Amino acid sequence: MVDVFMNGALSGQVSSGSKFMEQVIASRRKGTISKVLNIRYCKAEDKIEISTSKDRLRRPVIVIKEGVPQITKEHIKQLKENKLTWSDLIKKGVIEYIDAAEEENTYIALYDKDITKEHTHLEINPLTMFGSNTSLVPYANFNQSSRLNSGMKNQRQGISLYALNYLNRLDTNMNLLHQPQKPIVKSFTQDIFGDLLAGGQNMTIAVLNYEGYNMEDAIVINKASLDRGYSRSTHFRPYTTEKLRYAGGQVDKITIPDKDIQGYTVEEDYRFLEEDGITYPEVDVKGGDVIIGKTSPPRFLSKLESFSAMANTRKDTSVRVKFGEKGTVSKILLTESEDGNPLVQIEVRDSRIPTNGDKFSSRHAQKGVIGLIANSEDIPFTASGIQPDMLFAPYGVSKRMTVSHLIETLGGKVAALAGRYVDGTAFDSETYGDLREELLKLGFKDDGTETLYDGRTGKQYKAKIFVGSIYYMRLKYQVADKLQARARGRVALLTRQPTAGKAVEGGLRFGEMEKETLVGHGASLLMKERFDSDKTHVYVCDRCGAMATYDYYKNKAICIPCGEKAKTSTIEVSYAFKLFLDELMSIGIRPRLHLKDKYSQ
Ligand SMILES: [Zn+2]
Repeated sequence: MVDVFMNGALSGQVSSGSKFMEQVIASRRKGTISKVLNIRYCKAEDKIEISTSKDRLRRPVIVIKEGVPQITKEHIKQLKENKLTWSDLIKKGVIEYIDAAEEENTYIALYDKDITKEHTHLEINPLTMFGSNTSLVPYANFNQSSRLNSGMKNQRQGISLYALNYLNRLDTNMNLLHQPQKPIVKSFTQDIFGDLLAGGQNMTIAVLNYEGYNMEDAIVINKASLDRGYSRSTHFRPYTTEKLRYAGGQVDKITIPDKDIQGYTVEEDYRFLEEDGITYPEVDVKGGDVIIGKTSPPRFLSKLESFSAMANTRKDTSVRVKFGEKGTVSKILLTESEDGNPLVQIEVRDSRIPTNGDKFSSRHAQKGVIGLIANSEDIPFTASGIQPDMLFAPYGVSKRMTVSHLIETLGGKVAALAGRYVDGTAFDSETYGDLREELLKLGFKDDGTETLYDGRTGKQYKAKIFVGSIYYMRLKYQVADKLQARARGRVALLTRQPTAGKAVEGGLRFGEMEKETLVGHGASLLMKERFDSDKTHVYVCDRCGAMATYDYYKNKAICIPCGEKAKTSTIEVSYAFKLFLDELMSIGIRPRLHLKDKYSQ
């Protein structure tokens, strides 16, 4: 007997698993049971799984019966004449939706020419095996699958025009591309998603090495292209504060804080506040500037304290521009929160021109950072005077086997020269051969190479250089968000180590590898300075070896278990070691330090 599980719960048994599955599928195709039902017979575990829940991804395929696809030429003709709809085909059992579980029992042919007696289904189009993002990759069938996965991820990271009403919204940490373009080599899914869903720009590239500035994955960008506005974007960051009420009738105040309140910094930080305690639009701000002035009552007051002077010292809880950021105040919104408290929201925008280290990627996961922004006059040029926007090193292609990157570049060249879009839909694209032929007709070499001249010397390159046009995306990872340096600053209370993380102006770890560079340079004094910065003094009992406590009344260190007579010594250790000893004691382990005189034998 075979157990039958309905949405995960055991609900009965049948005598033959495969026969039962056939019957269920047949009745589903006939329409006597629900079309959303999917069934799987697992032979190894001898069980049947039936799913009708909402949490499954399902995809449509054409049904094959005894080696004959159920869709006919008549169907297709009627579809074209609008006499038949998609739902009609599902009702007739020509097309059915299967989920991942049912797919285990199927044998799906990619093309109708491949169909054998064993096949159960036929793909409507091989492209449907991709997700929506992956299907946007042109010539995707020429790539290895892992490149498609990363290409899909890169497309999600690409900056675009994400919503047309962006001026009326306050989104967290959002980037906006100024001049998005539709790719000229595109998949047909691009047309389904529409022109607005474009997250990049078409650019002319030359595949060559440039002084090593584009070694590994780095790219060299033409400064003239950036000056013309290539990949320019704006970063938006909202700042929010709520005017809260506290127990005892105390409230937050949105105002210019008085100088005597707790946490007031310097007057200069508050210079942009107007009378209402809020800054004004179109003012240029930088990290640390107050944009909303706010004071809060002191918290955690005991009953006694509430009568003292403490109750009147308010603290500064102003909203400041994040450390390391800059921008222009672009909108100010006064509204109410869900709880009915007054709410102030300010958006700061920052125009971002690509700089060294900003990340770019094509749709084939050929991602890289800018290694050099080269002056236009130094960039190579073709015989007709065309200068590439970008120089791309050739090693990246052979290593990652992104053949489609090269085909798209060639297709882009044809598209740009012929003034038309090139169809690069995976499995169903314009062929490479046709593109080469067309390029030849357009007066170029069919392999896409051209004679290039070095911009710096004017000399002709000995080799022919591959020049073409390809769609590139600017990714959201930008140097402006990551750049950080600190000379001195806060330390954590517990460990006395510098705080970690950019948001808290944290320190940068000087780790093992960095240490080795100092060793390599023989910079021993710097190394000493870097590695013993947190020394502390501890008192140790000479008799028992435990850490002694310092008695400030008697002005001497005392070991409490051994009494006042025991002698103590002062030693210098790192604070982290002292903390470690404290932590051991907190779990009931008593560490002892047995001291010896450094100078005696
Ligand atoms: Zn002792």
